Amino acid sequence: MIITKPRDWARIKGNLEELGAKRVFLMGCGECATVAHTGGHAELMVAKSVLEGAGYEVTGLVVGAVACHSGGTRLEMRKHQHEIDAADAVVVLACGAGVQTAADAIAKPVFPGLESAFLGNVIRNGVFEERCMMCGDCVLDKTAGICPVTTCPKGLLNGPCGGMWDGMCEVMTDRPCTHVKIKQRLAEQGRCRVARIEPKDHSAKLKPGAVSMRPARDAKKAAASGEGSGS
Ligand code: SF4
Ligand code: SF4
Repeated sequence: MIITKPRDWARIKGNLEELGAKRVFLMGCGECATVAHTGGHAELMVAKSVLEGAGYEVTGLVVGAVACHSGGTRLEMRKHQHEIDAADAVVVLACGAGVQTAADAIAKPVFPGLESAFLGNVIRNGVFEERCMMCGDCVLDKTAGICPVTTCPKGLLNGPCGGMWDGMCEVMTDRPCTHVKIKQRLAEQGRCRVARIEPKDHSAKLKPGAVSMRPARDAKKAAASGEGSGS
């Protein structure tokens, strides 16, 4: 999930002041930001009281089911159209994708209410760990499901580096070296360690702009319905 953290209120208020906004509509996200305790109903209520305490009127609020879902967000915004019309601006407590979805859906100025921090795992309630940098050329097949790009502070594909001491990382001294963990897990699984992982193909990280999975999905549906099979 995308891990978000609260944004400095001074910056959000600065955005509103620049615009001369006095009335604000608030939107959160029912998925990642709710799990991260940054953009669920409770956090929207806190945001409401912060804004009201600063003299703003909050015209309404909604926790979108999945803020980054274009269709769902448009629908959600339509249901709250009057409250949005009454507002000068919208503040979205979601990741950057959710903020952009809201900005696409309505004509009012939309401002981020959170910072998008990283793609990570929920370790336990309220505790998150960065796990993937979306490099576009995944090496988890070779590393027993442990990402060295993200979890080794030096981002080394092959290791450990010379600083590893007694199985612990030299940079983040309170945690085990990623490459020691990789070796251990591969051994536990009876797998051979890859001699050397080839340098990454950084062109795989080129920003795709938009990707469609539909052709493959539509072909699968057609095959399942027997279309084109001649029967
Ligand atoms: S290798 Fe790349 S895609 Fe795979 S988990 Fe690590 S950062 Fe993510
Ligand atoms: S000790 Fe291990 S995890 Fe830490 S920087 Fe070196 S190789 Fe990476």
